[in-house]
Amino acid sequence: MLLTITTTHQPATDLGYLLHKRPGQIQSFSLPVGTAHVFYPEATDERCTVALLLEIDPVGLVRRGVRFARIDQYVNDRPYVASSFLSVAIAKVFRSAMSGRSTERAELADQPLPLTATIAALPCVGGEGVLRRLFEPLGFTVHATGHALDETFPEWGESRYFTVQLDGEVPLKDLLSHLYVLIPVLDAEKHYWVEEEEVAKLLRHGEGWLAGHPDRELIVNRYLKRDRSLATQALTQLLQDEPEPDTEAEEREVEEEAVEQPIRLNEARLGAVLAAIRASGAKRVLDLGCGNGKLLRELIKESQFTEIVGADVSHRALEIASRRLRLEQLPTARRERITLLQTALTYRDRRLAGFDAAAVVEVIEHLDPPRLDAFARLLFGEARPGSVIVTTPNREYNVLFAGLPAGTMRHRDHRFEWTRSEFEDWAGETAGTHGYAVRFVPIGPEDPTHGSPTQMAIFEAG
Ligand code: SAH
Repeated sequence: MLLTITTTHQPATDLGYLLHKRPGQIQSFSLPVGTAHVFYPEATDERCTVALLLEIDPVGLVRRGVRFARIDQYVNDRPYVASSFLSVAIAKVFRSAMSGRSTERAELADQPLPLTATIAALPCVGGEGVLRRLFEPLGFTVHATGHALDETFPEWGESRYFTVQLDGEVPLKDLLSHLYVLIPVLDAEKHYWVEEEEVAKLLRHGEGWLAGHPDRELIVNRYLKRDRSLATQALTQLLQDEPEPDTEAEEREVEEEAVEQPIRLNEARLGAVLAAIRASGAKRVLDLGCGNGKLLRELIKESQFTEIVGADVSHRALEIASRRLRLEQLPTARRERITLLQTALTYRDRRLAGFDAAAVVEVIEHLDPPRLDAFARLLFGEARPGSVIVTTPNREYNVLFAGLPAGTMRHRDHRFEWTRSEFEDWAGETAGTHGYAVRFVPIGPEDPTHGSPTQMAIFEAG
């Protein structure tokens, strides 16, 4: 079974530093299931490809007591297709790269790189649809070539085997973790009994992406071989590890509002955002990072908005939003205008494409700065709403908040708070790159020196 990973990042041979495997050498590793070979079919400054070839020893496996789910112990697909054996090989052979360690290219390890992974034969239980559902939300373009059960007898139909190509711009360590978890999920057959240790492995390799994956329940269930008690354990932990935006939302209301309350900033912000969306003439609107649904509650009251989608990474925030909107009790016609989606704004999600307007209210300052580019590329470059309304704190104003010690931010989960010129630089550059025009509107009382407490950018597609 063969996995290749190609990059066109320049110089492409940096891939060798990231993987701790030198191009120009063939290295072999002995594994419990067989032998893994690593080599580079191409290695130029423009393009570099690493291949991981896993030779399974089926007889050895049976002798070692590895139990196949099938009766035909010696004749089965295991030696030829990508399965959890390949995950075992990835974890062993690319261990340092997976943990994001690189002595010589430390800065590249966290950086999104143009990558293509090709898996020669991947069994996909549930077909191409499931394959796409698993990889597309993580930002990959998926090319799948199905293989007939038997080329000579096309009437037998398609097999579950695909040659799969994944193209994306993600850090190498993320690609390796995605493959590690999702290959066995697609194969849906495991050679060993799942144990509690597997929950820890899943959570470790799923860190940073699994909690926000729209199909995380399918992933957890299949990965843990549908062992319900382990799956429940994993899902519970996954949710606990997630930053808890309902606590976050409540803390926000307490902490941030305590700071901002004297000027009733919350209402001013909501009013300004609503006015901007209304003025854009939008019918179909997104509220990205909707939290507990304050803006959604206002949007649903206005019949101009025929389709309203609230999206957030946090399942719990969405539950609160759903409760506060009283979705269950709404008349059907109203209920049908609104949808809540769990999604991460730093991963591609096609469900967010084609809207008239998107509000991103007090969200960007919660994103890690290295992920801001991915966020901007996916929103402005791919989802491409007609208008985008972004609000964020103006750091210059903080000195005027009596309750805020000098040098601190308004909320402890804020990764940054920008001055007006920092925000304007980011917004101007983002607009320029993606063909939007942008203007800025201050929100809240304006101080002649420090500006207003909240800054808003209104982007319109050109
Ligand atoms: N817009 C709301 C909530 C702001 S709090 C309001 O104005 O009240 C920030 C919200 O962004 C939280 O609900 C958090 O869960 C969400 N969020 C943070 N990072 C995210 C990400 N990467 N993808 C989607 N939502 C995210």
